[in-house]
Amino acid sequence: MDEKKHLGQKELNERVKHARLCTGCGACVNLCPYQRAYEDKVLAIFPCDLDVGRCYAFCPRTPVDLEALRGLLFDPQDLTPEVGAVKGFYVTRSRNTKERSRAQHGGTVTALMSLALKEGIIDTAVMADRGGTFLPEAVTENDSRKVAMHGKSSFVVSPNVAEFNRLAKGSSEKIGAVATPCQALAYAKMRMKPIPERDNNIDKLKLVVGLFCGWALSWERLMDLLAAKTELAAITGLDIPPSRYQAMHIYTTNGTIEVPIDEVNRCIRGACHYCFDMTAEFSDISVGSARLSEGWEEARGWNQVIVRTDLGLELVELARKKRRLEFREVPEGNLQRLKAASLNKKGMALKNLKLRTHSQDDLIYLNKEDPAFKNLIKGG
Ligand SMILES: Cc1cc2nc3c(=O)[nH]c(=O)nc-3n(C[C@H](O)[C@H](O)[C@H](O)COP(=O)(O)OP(=O)(O)OC[C@H]3O[C@@H](n4cnc5c(N)ncnc54)[C@H](O)[C@@H]3O)c2cc1C
Ligand code: SF4
Ligand code: SF4
Repeated sequence: MDEKKHLGQKELNERVKHARLCTGCGACVNLCPYQRAYEDKVLAIFPCDLDVGRCYAFCPRTPVDLEALRGLLFDPQDLTPEVGAVKGFYVTRSRNTKERSRAQHGGTVTALMSLALKEGIIDTAVMADRGGTFLPEAVTENDSRKVAMHGKSSFVVSPNVAEFNRLAKGSSEKIGAVATPCQALAYAKMRMKPIPERDNNIDKLKLVVGLFCGWALSWERLMDLLAAKTELAAITGLDIPPSRYQAMHIYTTNGTIEVPIDEVNRCIRGACHYCFDMTAEFSDISVGSARLSEGWEEARGWNQVIVRTDLGLELVELARKKRRLEFREVPEGNLQRLKAASLNKKGMALKNLKLRTHSQDDLIYLNKEDPAFKNLIKGG
C-alpha cells in the first residue's frame, strides 16, 4: 500500500486501466479535460501531473475503506455480509402495463425514477439508452412521463457517472442516478468527499437506484456474437434467465434465440471477473429480476427489490400508496438464495484477485479484513 492515501491519473492508468480492472463506469470522466469515454472504454487523452486526483479517489477499483462507506450511508443494524444493508425485501412490478412493455423486467426501476421526478424528490434522472448498435449512451431525463423511453437493460457498460459529473456542474440541484454496482460504489466514494476542496457537487446526488449485475459484456465481442446468431435489426432485447437455463436469450421479431452460456462467458468484460458486488450494495434501492415458483416466463415480468436506506423506503412506500408499484408476496427462501448468489460472486472475485497477485494478502482494491470478505477468505 502507498503511504499516500490519494494518487493521480498516472497511478489510475497503471493500476486500473493498464491492469484491465477498469469497469467503464465513467467516474473519472468530465472532472477534467483529460479523460474521455469512447465506445465502452475510458481513455486518457492527455497526461496529467497532479499527484492527487479525483479520478483516482473516485474510481471504484482503487482501495477504499468499505466499512467507512457503509457507516456513512446505512443503519448498522441493517447490514448483512452477503448483500449489504437490507431494510426491506420485496417482489414488485410497475402497475402501468405500457411501462412494463418497455422495461427489462417488471419496470420497477422505471416506475421509481418516474415517481421520484414527478414528486420532486429529484429534478433530473441519469439513465442509459441502449443505442442502435447495443452501445449504450448515458442520458438525462427531466420529464417523468418520458422515463419509460429509457427502459430495458444494456449488457454493455454505460459511462453514466461521467454524465452525472457533467450534469452536477450545471443547474440541476437534485439528481437521481440508475447505477450498476460499480457505479454505485463510485458515487459512494464521491459522497465520502475524499478531496474535500474539490467535491464535484456530489451533494446534488439525491437518489441512487442500483441494478443487480452478474457481469457486463465487451461491446465488440457482444456485437460479433449477436451478428453470428441473427440480423441485428431483428433484435428487440437480451436477457439472462436463471442459471439453470445456462443461456442468454436474444429476443427477436421472429422469436427467442438461446445462446449457450459458454459462448456468452467468452464475451464478459475482463474487469467484471474481479467485481465483488452483485446487488449494488451502495444504493438506496437495488433492483434485479425475480425468482417465482411459476417459472421464468412469469418471473421475468417482476423484480426483486432490496431497500437499503430511509430514502429508499420512503420512495417504495410512496410508490405503494400512489399505486405506481404492485407488490406480491416474496417466495420463501428468495432472500437466502440471493445471498448465496451474491456470496458466490464475492468468492469468485476474491479467488481471481488472489490468482492475479499470487498472494493471499494482496487483494488489489479490496481489504481482506473487511467483514464481507473475512469469512470467505477463511473458508478458502
Ligand atoms: C450489465 C447488467 C447486468 C445485469 N445483470 C443482472 C443479473 O445478473 N441479475 C439480475 O437479476 N439483474 C441483472 N441486471 C438488472 C436487470 O437487467 C434489470 O435492469 C433489473 O431487473 C431492473 O428491471 P426493470 O424492469 O425494473 O428495469 P427498467 O424499468 O427497464 O429500467 C432499467 C434501467 O436501467 C438503465 N440501464 C440500462 N442499461 C444500463 C447500463 N448498462 N448501465 C446503467 N444503467 C442501465 C435504463 O436506463 C433504465 O433506467 C443487469 C443489468 C445490467 C445493466
Ligand atoms: S473511474 Fe471508472 S472508468 Fe475511470 S478508470 Fe476507474 S473504473 Fe475505469
Ligand atoms: S460486474 Fe461489476 S464491474 Fe462489471 S459492470 Fe457489473 S458492477 Fe460493474
